[in-house]
Amino acid sequence: MENIMNIAEDNILHTYNRFKVVFDRGEGVYLYDTNGKKYLDFASGIGVMALGYGNEAYKKALKDQIDKITHVSNLYYTEPLAKAAEKICTVSGMDRVFFTNSGTEGIEGAIKAARKYAFEKDGRHDHEIIAMNHSFHGRSMGALAVTGNSHYQEPFLPLIGGIKFADFNDLDSVKAQINDRTCAIILETVQGEGGIYPAQKDFLKGIRDLCDKHDILLILDEVQCGMGRTGYMFAWQEYDIKPDIMVTAKGLGAGVPVGAFLMTSAVAEKSLKPGDHGTTYGGNPFVCAAINAVLDEFVNQNIIENVRSTGAYLESRLDSLVSESDIVISRRGKGFMQGLVLKCPPSEVINKALEAGLVVISAGTDVLRMLPPLVITKDHVDEMITILKKCL
Ligand SMILES: *Cc1c(COP(=O)(O)O)cnc(C)c1O
Repeated sequence: MENIMNIAEDNILHTYNRFKVVFDRGEGVYLYDTNGKKYLDFASGIGVMALGYGNEAYKKALKDQIDKITHVSNLYYTEPLAKAAEKICTVSGMDRVFFTNSGTEGIEGAIKAARKYAFEKDGRHDHEIIAMNHSFHGRSMGALAVTGNSHYQEPFLPLIGGIKFADFNDLDSVKAQINDRTCAIILETVQGEGGIYPAQKDFLKGIRDLCDKHDILLILDEVQCGMGRTGYMFAWQEYDIKPDIMVTAKGLGAGVPVGAFLMTSAVAEKSLKPGDHGTTYGGNPFVCAAINAVLDEFVNQNIIENVRSTGAYLESRLDSLVSESDIVISRRGKGFMQGLVLKCPPSEVINKALEAGLVVISAGTDVLRMLPPLVITKDHVDEMITILKKCL
């Protein structure tokens, strides 16, 4: 492992402080390093590996697609593209989809769609978007501009203009930022990187009402909290509201790079038109074969049901940990998106866990974050708790 890590460190741009492990393969919900050591995975590659590792239907779909064709560009139709588009629109209840290569790119598309919609309405060039403090939407100039973290933004100023910030779960702070130039409000239904903060019901309903009242578009970033992670196909589906535009990625491809932004037909009719937006790779038959396999497996394996039942068990075990341990202050989260607020730096526990064969990650400054594959069972939860207790 040392040799591989050295080669990587000598050549890769140093933007990540990687954990000292070289992963080699995965099986079910376990990862193996190049020495053959086994790890229980409660991070799933930052919420990507929804089906775990080695799902047979998923592997077959991808292998079969490789044998046929992997790319044709968006100048042409393919069957995997048509099917993936139909499926994602059906499960989301949205009307139109644009496939991207990442979550960040989905956010960029959503911002462009919102601005175009507003421009079509009044022809102005000074539209504003309200975003949330402690949000995370990606690292490109547009996505970074709506990411409420000055540390991430500062070296790269100026970003795109017209972005205002408000406090998550504080409706009055959002109201204070609205004016006649506001074209969209963007937020994560459950804030991920910022520290696992679910939107409160009355907050999100209040935002929806504000948007309806002022003809402002509601953009929900479901990149991390979507695709079944909270026990709903998309986290907003628990809230009796619907976004005008939503963004998904991470679990959508379950291991291939893909994202998407979706919108209602009311938005689509007055927004991006031919020539306004594009991508070479986005929605190619290879990644769409993955999306189709993922969405089929969600049905075949009752994934949502598992997140609800095993998620409730996970929550109860974590809540017991909060009452038993001096180091764990509280728990936040929904389903398989959970955060434990710690008294000590999370990295201390995370490194010990890795040594003990458990993969977990952090969020914010004081949160130990869990994003397990959506196929874990109660036994895996028990195994995780046993290891974590030792580490704490
Ligand atoms: C990961 C993430 C993104 C960015 O997605 P990438 O695929 O890394 O570009 C955007 N929003 C949220 C909420 C995320 O968790």
